[in-house]
Amino acid sequence: MFTRNRKLSGRILHVFKTSPFLSTIQFSTSHFPFLHLSSSRYDQTRCQHFLHPSFCPVLKPVRDFSSDSIEKMELKTVLDVLEQLAPLSLAESWDNVGLLVEPSKPRPIKTILLTNDLTGEVMDEAETMRCDLIVSYHPPLFRPIKRLLQKDWKQRLAVRAIEAGIAIFSPHTTWDSVEGGVNDWLVGGMGSGKVSVLMPAVSSEAQKHRLEFSCLNEEELNSLLKRLWKIEGSEHFQSSRISSSLTAVVQVLLSHPLVSSSLNITQVQQPPLLGCGQGRLSVLDEPVSVSTALQKMKKHLGLAHVRLALGEQQTLESEVKTVAVCAGSGASVLQGAKADLYITGEMSHHEVLDAVARGTSVILSDHSNSERGFLSVFRERLVMRLGDAVTIAISQKDRDPLQVI
Ligand SMILES: [Zn+2]
Repeated sequence: MFTRNRKLSGRILHVFKTSPFLSTIQFSTSHFPFLHLSSSRYDQTRCQHFLHPSFCPVLKPVRDFSSDSIEKMELKTVLDVLEQLAPLSLAESWDNVGLLVEPSKPRPIKTILLTNDLTGEVMDEAETMRCDLIVSYHPPLFRPIKRLLQKDWKQRLAVRAIEAGIAIFSPHTTWDSVEGGVNDWLVGGMGSGKVSVLMPAVSSEAQKHRLEFSCLNEEELNSLLKRLWKIEGSEHFQSSRISSSLTAVVQVLLSHPLVSSSLNITQVQQPPLLGCGQGRLSVLDEPVSVSTALQKMKKHLGLAHVRLALGEQQTLESEVKTVAVCAGSGASVLQGAKADLYITGEMSHHEVLDAVARGTSVILSDHSNSERGFLSVFRERLVMRLGDAVTIAISQKDRDPLQVI
């Protein structure tokens, strides 16, 4: 006998009934595997792992780019490698990453120039060396452009790249986020420690919804599920049109009085991508003094000077056990992080005062000085992936616009 309080259980791919009369349906926008959810076993089964293999860079050549294939190295091949080393899905939503300029006439990629910023001087350098691809960490094209004129320096650079047939790629926050990327490199300057991510990344590819409802009986559930399957034309409720398919499914469910009154929709939270995200916190294996921390970071960043704000009650001899870092302009990521020391490129006067009042010391290196050193780390990874087929250079003209006189 079926009652309203007893529920059928099922999910859309293979309807099963682990706990009678509760129906659970799950949607996904990607081809990631479904989590196997049911009302009674949700907690035990929700931890299915879905890390994409490309999130774990493996530093070995993906292909044998032997010398006879030098002439054949295509832009797409290089782009594939770049995206394997730091998937574009890791970028912040506001960012503008990936291929930004693509020449109309494809040509083999023989020379790649790595730079933190694409300035006029760096473009001069790229043209002189007959560069085929510029990898600029900061995206030289960021805001929407309505025209390409010579009076705007960024538009001018875009025109020069197009005329010279040079492609431009920008990784930006994908490098910040990826495990082993800019922020891991930055925190590594303080020595070994137990490192965690301040703002963990979550998968942007899979949005899942869990729908639960009650049915009068098994026949009604089966009838309902048949109608739902027809919406997508298959038993797989996978669709890139998540909003439209979800709406259509909900409309069907709402047409049944009992189902309608019991329907519960929840968005399934994605697990964080291990090791990826913005900012890093390190609990140092060997605590150091503030003074030693300064020396370590100057050496790591290759700088003669950095700026220091001592936290309240702190001295140069105070002990630093925990360090929070964020490359570039890190205040929004570091805000609230409990650490003895913040390391970033730049913070505003008031953001520094806030940190100091909490007893946290701050080291500022100027924006791009906290990022640029990673170029040589990344160059090694590219060389390992592309072999001798491509010349990979780091810009000699790229530098932070600020200098201490
Ligand atoms: Zn930056």
